[in-house]
Amino acid sequence: MSNRIGWALIGASTIADEWMVNAIRSQDGAIVAVVSGSEARARQFADRHRIPSATSELGQVLGRADVQAVYISSTNENHLPQAVAAAASGKHVLCEKPLALSEADAHRMIDACAEKNVVLATNHHLRCAATHRKLRELIQSGAVGKPLFARVFHAVSLPAHLRGWRLHKTDAGGGVVLDISVHDIDTLRFVLDAEPVQVTAMTSSSGMASHGLADGVMGVVRFNNGVLAQIHDAFTVPFAPTGLEVHGTDGSLFARSVMTQRAIGEIELRSAEGSKAIEVEHRDLYATAVAQFHRAVLHGEAPAASGSDGYRSLVAALAIQRSAASSSHVAIPFPPEL
Ligand code: NDP
Repeated sequence: MSNRIGWALIGASTIADEWMVNAIRSQDGAIVAVVSGSEARARQFADRHRIPSATSELGQVLGRADVQAVYISSTNENHLPQAVAAAASGKHVLCEKPLALSEADAHRMIDACAEKNVVLATNHHLRCAATHRKLRELIQSGAVGKPLFARVFHAVSLPAHLRGWRLHKTDAGGGVVLDISVHDIDTLRFVLDAEPVQVTAMTSSSGMASHGLADGVMGVVRFNNGVLAQIHDAFTVPFAPTGLEVHGTDGSLFARSVMTQRAIGEIELRSAEGSKAIEVEHRDLYATAVAQFHRAVLHGEAPAASGSDGYRSLVAALAIQRSAASSSHVAIPFPPEL
């Protein structure tokens, strides 16, 4: 039997167009169909990427025997029904973040996939970066001693072609928190190997986003190992570099240009021994995620970020939103419910 996995893309999206089509193909995945809410958009996408089949009928694709996995990159409110339908048809699911718009919906997706014994993975690409994997390794090997603080710099300029639903559609889960902070949380969970237990945050709406959606946020997240992490995310900041720092009793790690889709970035370790540049072998983040997803489907390994990881980043992101809305600290259940 061939180990080649047949994929259907659900959503004729920018992320599929710019990154995931190449990532799937680079890992020998066969993209056999694309589904869109619009037949014309599906056809256009299929033609551009030489995908054999294009449709607006999800059921048609889910009934195909040559589709083993789906990649869901529709707008966020569609993730739940599409993932549940895919699982019901026995398809493995790689779903974009945020997994869903509520804890209960994410729970339903996890249950639906578990019931049919199919893989559910969340496309948190940053934990697939060689830089973040190196940071985790360094922290686990004691390079900074006991980690005390972390800081995430993820304030960027939202590219012009993405200035649509993210800025204006509340029912699609728009706003910077579900778009960017959710990635910060996943990355911090991964790098620190710890769980968020409390958040406090303030959001801003500078005019780029509408309908009360936030286009900037600053927050503090307390982790169960005592680390306090600061996050700064925005759609409105064109000239700031991104980064992640971890400060511990015996050293500090400075990772620069690492909150990005691209396989770039540098790490510096400062300690009593001085300053050292850490070597990193960069690899495409999305290809790494797909490779791990394929191994999960074929060999039962864990995907890079599971459904449960997507659930936990969503829980913390929603807590950030609640904290900002209520001007209060918000606790996150610990141990995690899922
Ligand atoms: P897009 O706006 O490009 O695509 C989202 C959906 O919008 C598509 O599925 C499509 O719907 C619809 N759409 C696309 N073009 C048009 C158009 N011209 N007119 C009307 N509708 C259109 O979003 P993104 O690719 O930026 O994001 C998609 C998902 O991926 C989101 O969940 C987002 O959070 C996530 N994401 C994840 C990233 C990561 O690195 N992990 C990075 C960027 C996004 P249809 O399904 O009907 O084709």
